[in-house]
Order: sequence, then structure tokens, then C-alpha cells
Amino acid sequence: MTNPHPTFDVAIVGAGICGLAHALAAARRGKRVVVIDRDAQANGASVRNFGFVTVTGQQRGDGWRRARRSRQIWAEIAPAAKIPVLQRGLLMVARRPEARAVLEEFRRDEMGAECKLVEPGEIDSYGQGLRTGEFAAALYSPHELRVESREAIPRLAAYLSERFGVTFLRETVVRSAAPPRLETSRGIVEAEAVIVCPGDDFHTLHPDRIAAYGLTRCKLHMLRLAPDSFDERLPPVMSDLGMIRYLGYSELPAAEALRKRLQAEQGEHIANGVHLIVVRSADNSLVVGDSHHYAATPDPFAPTQIDDLILDEYARVFAGPLPRVVERWTGTYASARDRLMLVDKPSDALHIVLITSGTGASTSFAIAEEVLADLFGPL
Ligand SMILES: Cc1cc2nc3c(=O)[nH]c(=O)nc-3n(C[C@H](O)[C@H](O)[C@H](O)COP(=O)(O)OP(=O)(O)OC[C@H]3O[C@@H](n4cnc5c(N)ncnc54)[C@H](O)[C@@H]3O)c2cc1C
Repeated sequence: MTNPHPTFDVAIVGAGICGLAHALAAARRGKRVVVIDRDAQANGASVRNFGFVTVTGQQRGDGWRRARRSRQIWAEIAPAAKIPVLQRGLLMVARRPEARAVLEEFRRDEMGAECKLVEPGEIDSYGQGLRTGEFAAALYSPHELRVESREAIPRLAAYLSERFGVTFLRETVVRSAAPPRLETSRGIVEAEAVIVCPGDDFHTLHPDRIAAYGLTRCKLHMLRLAPDSFDERLPPVMSDLGMIRYLGYSELPAAEALRKRLQAEQGEHIANGVHLIVVRSADNSLVVGDSHHYAATPDPFAPTQIDDLILDEYARVFAGPLPRVVERWTGTYASARDRLMLVDKPSDALHIVLITSGTGASTSFAIAEEVLADLFGPL
């Protein structure tokens, strides 16, 4: 017989950023929360990413709105959770006139209202070390935050536990989730509401519901470059290839001419989904990426040829000798052709939340507030 008094108000499956964001939103409402994850510590996309909370470049509409709200929440909780914000802002450099045209169009748009178009002669004032003499312009965005995910995610979990009394059940697989009952590898857990945030595991819980969205998985290559004389003033840096991947730019009319030119000049980069993001860590090493390859089960191999394409773009943007590669890894995330995220509701008390684009660090907090409002009403 079902216990009429569930132990928890909310049970969350998955302790990645999506699950933790839902735990925060529920805990802030005073709910008794349990987070259940099969791994001993976070090991999925949420600790493999850049920790780059990106606003500028997110898709117009819900994506951009959610990123703005999530960035606000990151800024609120980072000091309380002792999560250092290592960099702020974004410098999007345009290596070509066609890329400058995209930035000019973006700057005129409401999404670019608080950004600044930077002329080549002024770029060095944001930090030295770039091939500024070869750029057509840059866009500076003040919105972004960069955290070190492999430290930030455990600290966020610790904060939820210490500040709000959130319970964590780790090394525990959830085999079925039908509120008020979850069957786990360690026994039954009861909760009034259940939120499943399974990352890119489409097959363990409610596989039929998830299958209806036609999802696939995306594999990304990432590199860490040895600590170097990187100018600490520089914000995260991106370049032309990012303007045809990030929908906030790529859906602008000016992006078409850039796409054509990049296809002709950097076809191999495009074929491998390569673009450039460079962020700095506390020890002045750089996290550099990435590439995009899609498959139901991405292979586990990481050919150097893909890393070389990423480093090739790095060398076109940064002056000086290439720092040594000291770490390489891959990550995967859920991907959909037609949506950035999805919330599926098999019942009123059960929500399945998947971030189906590479935007979970940037949007999860806002998504979680929306899901909690749907479950328990507006605040
Ligand atoms: C290399 C890389 C770079 C990225 N860069 C950025 C970036 O700069 N900015 C940005 O915003 N986003 C970025 N992303 C995307 C972002 O990291 C993801 O969107 C986000 O981490 C997804 O979070 P999640 O919690 O849904 O998934 P995950 O972090 O994968 O967590 C899912 C968790 O669910 C658990 N789980 C699943 N099923 C069960 C079950 N049945 N029982 C128990 N546990 C279960 C898993 O063990 C896992 O811990 C990047 C992603 C990658 C891979």
C-alpha cells in the first residue's frame, strides 16, 4: 500500500545542472527535496562543459529570456555557494567583414542593446594576446559568467545540502518513477512530485515518452591548454565559426553571407561542427573547444584530427606560440533538431526535463523555476 505521507515533497532524478537547478527552485519554495543519481559524483555533461553561462548568442525568444534569468540566479548563488566566477563577459571576434556584418546586425537588435561593437584598434583594451591586427571588429557582451564546472557542480550540491537540507542519494539507479513512488536500486523512495532530469539517458525512465521527441546525442571534443601568459583581463573569446552555430547570430539575415564564405574557407571545420570557445581557469590554463558529432550512441574515440581543427581556429585568433595541450576529454548531451529543451508531463505530478541543446549551464535555472511553477503554482 502506498504511504499516504510521502517522505519528500519533490524527488529529482539526476544530479547534473538540470537536476540541481530543480532542487534549488524546489528548496527555495520550502519543499523537502531528494536528488537521486546513479554516479558517486557528477560525471555527465554538467562537469565536462565550459562552465560558460552564455546570454548573448542564445536563440531569440525563450532561449535568450531563460539565459538572462539563469545568469541572474548564477550571480545570486555563486557567492553563497562559494563558486568563484572566473571570468565575466564575452569577446566575439570577427575575423572577416562578413562576420563584422553579423555583429553589426546583432548590435542593432534588442538582444544586442547592452553589447558594444568594438573597432579593431580598441580590441586590445579588453586584453592583449589576440591577433587584433587581423580582425574586422569584435562584439563585447557584458552578460556572461564563467565558472569551473568540475568544482561548481559539487559546490552547488553541497550548498543545497547544507543551506536547504536537500537529501542526496548517490550511486543509486532509479528504475521507475511514477509518483508518489520511485523504485531505486536501494529501495523505494516516496515523493509527492517527481522531476526526471536524465541528461542524455533516454532509455532507463519513460523511454516511450522520450522516444516520441526523436532525440539523438551529440559528442564534443574539449582541450585544456597549459597555463600561459594569457591576459587575465580577457573575457571568454569566440570567433566567426560560433556565429553560424549560436542561433542568436545564425538566424540573422547577415549570417547567410558568412556561412557561404566559411563553407568555402573552413569546410572541414564546419563538417565536424567545430567552432571556438576559449575560457580561462584559476591557474591561467585555458579550456578550449569544441566539435559536434551526432549519433544515437556516439563512439568513444577522440581522433586528434578534430582537436587539430579546434587548435587551428585557436591559432588564427590568438597570437604567439600554441600552449601545450595538457588534458583532453569528450562529453555528450541530448540533442533535438527542433527544440532547445523539452518538458514532458506524463502526469500532473511527473515532469521529464531534457535540455536538448548545448545550453544547460545557461538556461537550467530558469527552466526549473517554470517547472516548479507548473507543479505548485506561481510564487
Ligand atoms: C563538452 C560540453 C560543453 C558544453 N558547454 C556548455 C556551455 O559552455 N554552456 C552551456 O550552457 N552548456 C554547455 N553544454 C551543455 C550542458 O553541459 C548540458 O546542457 C547540461 O550539462 C545538461 O545537464 P543535465 O543535468 O541535463 O545532464 P547531465 O549533466 O548529463 O546529468 C544527468 C544526470 O542524470 C543521471 N541519471 C540519468 N538517469 C538516471 C537514473 N535512471 N537513475 C539515476 N541517475 C540517473 C546521470 O547519472 C547524470 O548524473 C556543454 C556540454 C558539453 C558536453
